[in-house]
Amino acid sequence: MSIEDAMAEVADGLELTVHRSTGAAPGEGTVQILIRASRASRDRWKEAAARMGVSVAEMVRQLADAKAAELLDCPHPRDRWRNTRYGTSCGHCGQMLSRRR
Ligand SMILES: [Zn+2]
Repeated sequence: MSIEDAMAEVADGLELTVHRSTGAAPGEGTVQILIRASRASRDRWKEAAARMGVSVAEMVRQLADAKAAELLDCPHPRDRWRNTRYGTSCGHCGQMLSRRR
């Protein structure tokens, strides 16, 4: 096996590992997101992630996915609608559902 072949094999393995950990569909690929945080937050996130048994990156992915689903996939349950002087909003996700004229 040539060095190029060996390196390609390693790269394939790395890519599969990344996909497995990010939950990206095969062929979908991933992007890197860098975020800034205070040292105190970073330390707390590390401790919390360790307690969950996952990496900080995995914990952030899970929390962000859950929040995105809560906000973007909200069915706007009727019993959570709020009437304000501006109109009707969803008390679950905060989206404005109709505006008063
Ligand atoms: Zn909603």
